[in-house]
Amino acid sequence: LAGLMQQTPLMISDILVHAARGHADREIVSRLVEEPVWRYDHGGLASRAAKAANALTALGVAPGDRVTSLAWNTHRHLELFFAVPGLGAVLHTANPRLSDDQLAFTITHAGSRVLLYDRSFAALVDRLRERLPTIERFVMLADAERTSAGDVGAESYETLLEESDPGIVWPRFDENAGAFLCYTSGTTGDPKGVLYSHRSVVLHALAAGLDGALGFTAFDCIMPCQSLYHATAWGLPFVALINGCKIVLPCDRFDGASLHALIQDEGVTFSGGVPTIWTMYLAHLKATGGTTGSLKRLVIGGSAVPRVMAETFERTYGVTVRQIWGMTETSPLGAISTPTPRLVQRGQDSCDEVIWTRQGRAPFGIEMRIVDEAGEPCPHDGETSGTLEVRGPWVLERYYRADASAVDLDGWFDTGDIATIDADGFMRITDRTKDVIKSGGEWISSIDIENAAAGCPGVRIAAVVGVFHPKWEERPILVIETHADAALTEQAVRDHLRPLIVGWWMPDEVVFDTVPLTATGKINKMALRDRYRDRLAH
Ligand code: ADP
Repeated sequence: LAGLMQQTPLMISDILVHAARGHADREIVSRLVEEPVWRYDHGGLASRAAKAANALTALGVAPGDRVTSLAWNTHRHLELFFAVPGLGAVLHTANPRLSDDQLAFTITHAGSRVLLYDRSFAALVDRLRERLPTIERFVMLADAERTSAGDVGAESYETLLEESDPGIVWPRFDENAGAFLCYTSGTTGDPKGVLYSHRSVVLHALAAGLDGALGFTAFDCIMPCQSLYHATAWGLPFVALINGCKIVLPCDRFDGASLHALIQDEGVTFSGGVPTIWTMYLAHLKATGGTTGSLKRLVIGGSAVPRVMAETFERTYGVTVRQIWGMTETSPLGAISTPTPRLVQRGQDSCDEVIWTRQGRAPFGIEMRIVDEAGEPCPHDGETSGTLEVRGPWVLERYYRADASAVDLDGWFDTGDIATIDADGFMRITDRTKDVIKSGGEWISSIDIENAAAGCPGVRIAAVVGVFHPKWEERPILVIETHADAALTEQAVRDHLRPLIVGWWMPDEVVFDTVPLTATGKINKMALRDRYRDRLAH
């Protein structure tokens, strides 16, 4: 028997329309590269996003087309978050931290027709231009003057907006249409595209806003310190617009002093980002004697939150920390650590211990389990570890342009993380099966560095592992087993690697040692990680 309710599709544009209607005067503040701070409100966002959509339509962008942004956390980037999906096209939010090869690969794989970029990426775009065969139009996210000063052949975003009609009736279409294309490099081989739909984005935003998750209210002032190109900044802008929050966008300034100034000046109550950012912020407070001001809550994730970080924020500054776990493939909210009545009953210390050391529990919408090597579910006893699998309406089904599904017949997606889950549902990451390193929230491919190092004369085996680093969470160490007669120096290895890998991938240490192998002859990464666990901990 069919239900008799309206089948209104879940549209991202409805979030914008709601914001403009329900809290038009709620402020949005954006820092910019080489420009004064920009201030407007939810209503202003809605009218400029409408103009941007009309401008893109005039450029020939049609529903289903892909458009790439290469931009920081600014109001213009936020406008594209609505203009592009709003007209039925897909916004590919490119990650500027990727190597030139990977960046060109993702833009071309996306098949993007238009590239909109911040002025700070002008040199990068010039360098890549010849390698972007699908891009027909280049648009700089700047006014005419800055565009012509900084570039050859790009159009100015502000000029396009000035010439554009502000009126729009956002089209309605299938809620399963693609909206955002985010590539993850936290995988072996080429980056893989995760294509969010309108439905997945809206459902994720609704669930992420619940009190057991982010818990935003109209009195909050939100500052997303996760990049907008990283899984839509964890969906924070959508949650903020649905709930009528003030929004503060820090551009590319994630250093302690800049964050402190914005929090103080704008009355930020809530922020989120990777642990590295909050390490810098805490160091700044300690050095200057500054306070956290209006800040009430932080959501930290992307890498494990050090216990001492959560403890310092809560005990010294009275700021609540909620750890989240997630992946680009999970939109990204997969788990969040919030207290439960049962936990609180056990007393403050016991509750803190769990909240500060676990990645969290699955919110409504996410199912989570751990499985052994045979794929059989493991008990949720807090002791047994297994491969973490998830499923739900904002978990991917397959990668963009992949022939095969990325999930098993029952819809379970293998996250490549190893975890335990306790009887209360709290999940703790203990290791990972994927051979990658996460440094300051960005991925480094162990295999790419190993392949580059393997070509260095004298190298018999090259193995790269990530080990704990106090600032970057993880940094790579290169372990080299040389041929018996080779006299290789660290300098020679570094000189060999330099032209082959991105600068920030350079291993912190090159160690000459034997490389342990597993029973099947593969490099035993777990043993190596154990051996060098504290190598960079100083
Ligand atoms: P994001 O953009 O959210 O960082 P990625 O897809 O780049 O997502 O990375 C996802 C991976 O990051 C996870 O599979 C896991 O290995 C790691 N990760 C994310 N959050 C946490 C966390 N809180 N603790 C430990 N590892 C985490």
